[in-house]
Amino acid sequence: LSERLVKTFAHLRTKGKLSPADVDATVREIRRALLDADVALTVVKAFTARVRERALSDEVNQALNPAQQVVKIVDEELVAILGGETRHLRFAKQPPTVIMLAGLQGAGKTTFAGKLALRLRGEGHTPILVAADLQRPNAVGQLQVVGEQAGVSVYAPEPGNGVGDPVKVAKASIRYARDKQHDVVIVDTAGRTGVDEQMMKQAAAIRKAIDPDEVLFVIDAMIGQDAVATAKAFDEGVDFTGVVLSKLDGDTRGGAALSVVSVTGKPILFASTGERLEDLEVFHPERQARRILDMGDVLTLIEQAQKAFDEEEARKVADKIAREAFTLDDFLKQMQQIKKLGSMKKLLGMLPGAAGMRQQIEQFDDSLLTRTEAIIQSMTKAERDNPRILNGSRRLRIANGSGTTVSEVNQLVQRFEQAAKMMKSVARGGMPSIPGMGSL
Ligand code: GDP
Ligand code: MG
Repeated sequence: LSERLVKTFAHLRTKGKLSPADVDATVREIRRALLDADVALTVVKAFTARVRERALSDEVNQALNPAQQVVKIVDEELVAILGGETRHLRFAKQPPTVIMLAGLQGAGKTTFAGKLALRLRGEGHTPILVAADLQRPNAVGQLQVVGEQAGVSVYAPEPGNGVGDPVKVAKASIRYARDKQHDVVIVDTAGRTGVDEQMMKQAAAIRKAIDPDEVLFVIDAMIGQDAVATAKAFDEGVDFTGVVLSKLDGDTRGGAALSVVSVTGKPILFASTGERLEDLEVFHPERQARRILDMGDVLTLIEQAQKAFDEEEARKVADKIAREAFTLDDFLKQMQQIKKLGSMKKLLGMLPGAAGMRQQIEQFDDSLLTRTEAIIQSMTKAERDNPRILNGSRRLRIANGSGTTVSEVNQLVQRFEQAAKMMKSVARGGMPSIPGMGSL
């Protein structure tokens, strides 16, 4: 989506004054870009009509830079269509807060349940996961695994004990949560591969029985044109309060987001952006619009960096840099912090101008971090503390030990020296830099 719009806007920026023909050509391009991104036709039509109307109005004619004004209008309309303000999770005045999940099978409900539990736990809550998906044979087991990873307990019916009724399980879980002082209850429900009446009835019955504070509809961002029909069906069936966009990682086209919000009028609360439990972001309409318009999602990037970089560790490193005692061990620790951020490819994709560097990003090798880690781990303590002692035979031993080559070891030492030099010049307390890649 972005690449195309970037070109259109670049062209527009060369214009001092816009003719109606310019506006029409631009709107046509935006329309094509949105349709390419699988935004529903009705949504595209309404969107481009609004942009066109505003682009041809006095607001643009009288602007100092009409082209920039059009870019601004597109941005504003995108933000509006994505829901305007950031919508945060609503908590009950009287705990427990009950959050029910709904959506098709494979949408990412169970994964999201774990992600949300992990995030809430990190914020000091005491969430519990509830297995109300009793449809698929291994659904309860999957939730238990997710719960273990997130470090939260799972409420599930006793195995073999008649199993059966998800409505009863969900209802009982609320009493259990209240008893055990869990302040948030996350109820995972069953899905089907397609919308069907029985599934919707069951979801509606669970909703009625537990009266949730939030009903979150989880939808796969890759679903494309089916997004509208699916969202409508769930909106009518369970009347959800918000949307979770899952699988918004990699080069997923964000078209479904625009369609779902615009068709249901319900806000997106979270974006699920990968298979790991940490891959969850609060959805910010403004940032998503910027991302679509390729202004880069710098804010989200910084937020993630701050979370992953352990503050204590960062301070220690800053201290060492100040004392010029930065070693390969510290380098390794930094590398591991960076890995916590997730795929480097994904991070690079969030940077401004990412659409223009698509090819370089595609070629970035995420395994580089892993190999670098292996190399450092094959070094002795003395070598890590003082890379100057790394002669030829030591380098060969390290290459063999880490399954890499001497030339890779050489490159790493070189990168480390560059990084160490660079870090000395970085002021204390600034954003940590990425070894060998320059600062963010
Ligand atoms: P459910 O049937 O709705 O509970 O869906 P699951 O949570 O079981 O997820 C279905 C599949 O999608 C699993 O293989 C997950 O690992 C994967 N998945 C879930 N969320 C994401 C995401 O944000 N990104 C990616 N890449 N995969 C995801
Ligand atoms: Mg599931």
